[in-house]
Amino acid sequence: MRYYLDAIDQNKHLNCFLEVFAEHALQRAIELDSKPVSGKLHGIVLGIKDNICYKGHKASAASKILQNFISTYSATAVERLENEGAIIIGRLNCDEFGMGSSNENSAFGPVLNPNDNSRVAGGSSGGSAAAVKAGMCMAALGTDTGGSIRLPADFCGVIGYKPSYGRVSRHGLMAYGSSFDQIGVLSNTVADTAAILEVIAGPDEFDSTALPNNLESIDLKSEKKYRIAYFPEWIEHSSIDPEISIQLKDYLKQLETNGHQVNPVSFTLTDFIVPTYYILTTAEASSNLARYDGARFGYQSEKKPDNLYSFYQHNRTEGFGKEVKRRIMLGTFVLSTGYYDAYFTKAQQVRQQLKKQTELIFKDYDFILAPNSPTVAYKLGEKNKDPLAMYMGDIFTVFANLTGVPAVSLPVFKHSSNLPFGLQLLSSTHNEVSLLRFSHQLMQQ
Ligand code: GLN
Repeated sequence: MRYYLDAIDQNKHLNCFLEVFAEHALQRAIELDSKPVSGKLHGIVLGIKDNICYKGHKASAASKILQNFISTYSATAVERLENEGAIIIGRLNCDEFGMGSSNENSAFGPVLNPNDNSRVAGGSSGGSAAAVKAGMCMAALGTDTGGSIRLPADFCGVIGYKPSYGRVSRHGLMAYGSSFDQIGVLSNTVADTAAILEVIAGPDEFDSTALPNNLESIDLKSEKKYRIAYFPEWIEHSSIDPEISIQLKDYLKQLETNGHQVNPVSFTLTDFIVPTYYILTTAEASSNLARYDGARFGYQSEKKPDNLYSFYQHNRTEGFGKEVKRRIMLGTFVLSTGYYDAYFTKAQQVRQQLKKQTELIFKDYDFILAPNSPTVAYKLGEKNKDPLAMYMGDIFTVFANLTGVPAVSLPVFKHSSNLPFGLQLLSSTHNEVSLLRFSHQLMQQ
């Protein structure tokens, strides 16, 4: 335990942890040491993203509006980790309410990339990715609504796993886009990811969207040859760094040489995925974030309100950051009378189309192989003045959340700038076992 606490101390400049539960973690380590090993994760040291509740501890979603909020219960995922002997060492920085791609939207400052401190760690689970990369915890929980586990994993060089929608209960996760949100894992090995996922997955009476079955103990060994699809529209996309494109193509050739079947599959809906994602998630966010009014919990302005309306107005104006307000307004707009059918209904129709196309692809293929991001980690401040440029950086990750399929980022590449980048692998929905097995196979090479 002291090893991790020292590592956290030495890496303070990265701004990964919003709070370290040092006393609590040491105490728990002593308790666990005095007991025979029983749980599957006995003594495993984990960090959790700050939008996940942990009873008796603060959870702020990296927002001023919740900066002093203390959870009265633990998320199901956290409760299950603790029941199996894990130690929660602290809460990790992220973009406010998970809204962002670079971790620059935190009310408590950006997270720096451990590989190059002048660059972003990626978001929104930037604290989770950077903490695992820099050895401040063994693994971490993150959340992924449109890429927030995979993108920072890609930028920092760790494994980032987003399960199928419903695989992990969302009870105790602060909602952003409820039909997209998933809790997942950032780690150094596929075996670690599998061990944690087995524990946190499964049905939950507090989340009716949680899948009904548990994940049994996953045997990762597999020599199987698979059928792999890739979208030329993505690998040749106008926004992609040519070097990322070349390395991906070489990787595909290598897979073919190794006996896998690799084929291009045309994906004609590429231009629609980012707009569809931002219409639907902002609509859901505008509703989800209505609960933060300062009346029952959260930030209350010092300004004296004239009436109830101005009470809400002061609290929300001062409590929410710029990006969160932008999304609440956008979401309210797409849901408003007169625009609902033009935007929200259309976007839902596109989502259905995407799901249908995806099902068809997975009839013929085991996996889709793709980039995670058009670029490697960029400089702090490079994109955050231009929200559209930032949104377009999500072009390859939001597909998995729109369709609900599981997806992982594997740190297999190195750019000439010396920065890491990942390979994204997607499988059909609920097919975590195959996805983890193939990921393990690829990481062994
Ligand atoms: N970058 C995406 C967004 O800003 C994804 C965020 C996420 O997955 N939480 O919405």
